[in-house]
Amino acid sequence: MAIKIYNTYSRQKEEYTPLHPDVTGFYTCGPTVYDYFHIGNARAFIVFDMIRRYFIYRGYRVRYVMNLTDIDDKIIKRANEQGVDSAEIAEKYAAAFFEDIQKLGIRPADVYPRATDHIEEIQALIAKLIEKGVAYESGGDVFYDVAKFPAYASLSGKNLDQLQSGARIAVDERKHNPLDFVLWKAAKPGEPKWPSPWGEGRPGWHIECSAMSMRYLGETFDIHAGGQDLIFPHHENEIAQSSAATGKEFARYWLHNGFLDIRGEKMSKSLGNFITVRELTKQYSAAVVRLFFMQKHYRSPVDFTEEGLQAARASSRRLTEAWRKITAAAGDALPLASADEAGAAKAFVETVFRLQRDIQTAMDDDFNTPAAVGKLFDLVREANRFIDSGVSSEEERRAVATVLAHMEGYDSFLGVIDHSAGDVDSERVGKVLDTILHLRSQLRQEKNFALADRIRDELAASGVIIEDSPEGPKWRWKN
Ligand code: AMP
Ligand code: ZN
Repeated sequence: MAIKIYNTYSRQKEEYTPLHPDVTGFYTCGPTVYDYFHIGNARAFIVFDMIRRYFIYRGYRVRYVMNLTDIDDKIIKRANEQGVDSAEIAEKYAAAFFEDIQKLGIRPADVYPRATDHIEEIQALIAKLIEKGVAYESGGDVFYDVAKFPAYASLSGKNLDQLQSGARIAVDERKHNPLDFVLWKAAKPGEPKWPSPWGEGRPGWHIECSAMSMRYLGETFDIHAGGQDLIFPHHENEIAQSSAATGKEFARYWLHNGFLDIRGEKMSKSLGNFITVRELTKQYSAAVVRLFFMQKHYRSPVDFTEEGLQAARASSRRLTEAWRKITAAAGDALPLASADEAGAAKAFVETVFRLQRDIQTAMDDDFNTPAAVGKLFDLVREANRFIDSGVSSEEERRAVATVLAHMEGYDSFLGVIDHSAGDVDSERVGKVLDTILHLRSQLRQEKNFALADRIRDELAASGVIIEDSPEGPKWRWKN
C-alpha cells in the first residue's frame, strides 16, 4: 500500500509516488532568524520532521532541505534597534535555532541553505524572469508581473478579482498591478545590500525559497511544506516564480500544517501571545512536546494549554516506563519475523503484528498520528499484560523483543519515548559503580582481599566486570 498525502494543490488525498525512485526531495520553509522561535513554529518543524522520518521508516530515501531566512525586514529592524549588524542578529538566532531543534528531538536537515549565501542563484532566477517578460524593473526594485502567470492563485484557490480590489487600497505607483510582488528590493540607507544588474539591493522573501529549493532539489521536486499561513502569498508566489522560469511543474505535493492556537488565536510573534521553545523545554522534554503534537492530526488546529502538556507528560511517562520494562524483559532475545515462530506466545505475537498493520494503515493515510498513537498505547497495554503473566521461555522473550523492535520503529518517527530518561538512570548506576570500585581499592590497600574479591564476584554475577588498567580498576558491562 502506498502512502496517501493530502495535497493542498489538488485539495485531495493522493497516492505518493516519488519523481525519482531513488530519492524523495522534500523542502520545508524554515525560520526567519530574528528571534527565538515559538512553539507555533515548533509545530511546523516537528510535524515535518515526523513526516520525513515516516518516509524513511517506510523505506524511502529522503533529501530534506530547510532554508534559513537570514535577510529580512524583521532582522534589519531588530539589528537597528540593538545597534548591531543584521548578520550578527541572523547568526545569533540561527545558532539558537539549531540548539532549540535539538531540544525537540528534530533530526537535522540534509541542507540548511541561507539566503545570503545564494544571492547569485537568486539574481540568476530574477534575470530569467525578466528575460521571459514576467518580471519588470521599476526604480531599482524588481516586481513579478502577476497578470503574466495565468495559473496565479491556483494553490490557494483565491479569487483574483477580489484579491485585486483588496490590494488596491494600498496603491503603489511602481507596480503594474496591485498584486505584483517584489523580487528584488532597492537598498535603503543603512540596509545590507548586494550589487545587482538593477542596482544595489537585497532579495525578496519569496524568491529565496524558489531559488534555494530548485538549487538543492531540482526544477521539479516531490514535497514542499510549511504552515497554512504560508499558502498565500508565499507558496503561491513560489509557484509563480519557479514555474514561469522553468516552464515546468515546481513542487508536486504541497503539505501544510494547522496552527497552534492559544486562547483561540494563532500563536504569533506579532500578537505577542507566544511561548518560546527555549522556555518550554526548560519544563518539558522533547518526548512530551512531540507527543502533545502527535496526539492531533498535523492539519488540524491545536489549542495550547498547560493541562494538555501535563496530560502529554503523563502519557509519555507511561510509554517510557513501558519501553524500559519491555527492554528489560526482552533481554538479548531477537525479534520474531512472524507469529508462526512464536510457539505458545502465538496469540500475543499475532496481536503485535495486527497492531503494526493498523499503525501503518493509519500513518499511510495522510500521517494519522492520533490513530497511530492510540494503537501504540494498545500495544503497550497488551505487552504489560503479557510480561506480567510471566516471561520465562526463549519464545516468550522473543515475543517481547518483537514488541520492542516495533516500538523502536514507531518511535523512529514519533519521537515520543524519553530515551534520555533511561540515560539518567544509567548515569546514576555509573556513579554508584565508581564509588564501589573506589571502596574496593581501599579494601585492597588495607589487605582485605577476601572482601574485595567478594565484591568483584558479586558484581560479576550482576553482569559487571572489573578490569585492572594502568589508570586503576575499571568496570564494564558483561557482553
Ligand atoms: P516563520 O519563522 O514565521 O516564517 O515560521 C516558520 C514556520 O512556522 C512556517 O512554516 C510557519 O507557517 C509556521 N508557523 C508560524 N506560526 C505558527 C503557528 N501558530 N502554528 C503552526 N505553525 C506556525
Ligand atoms: Zn519558503
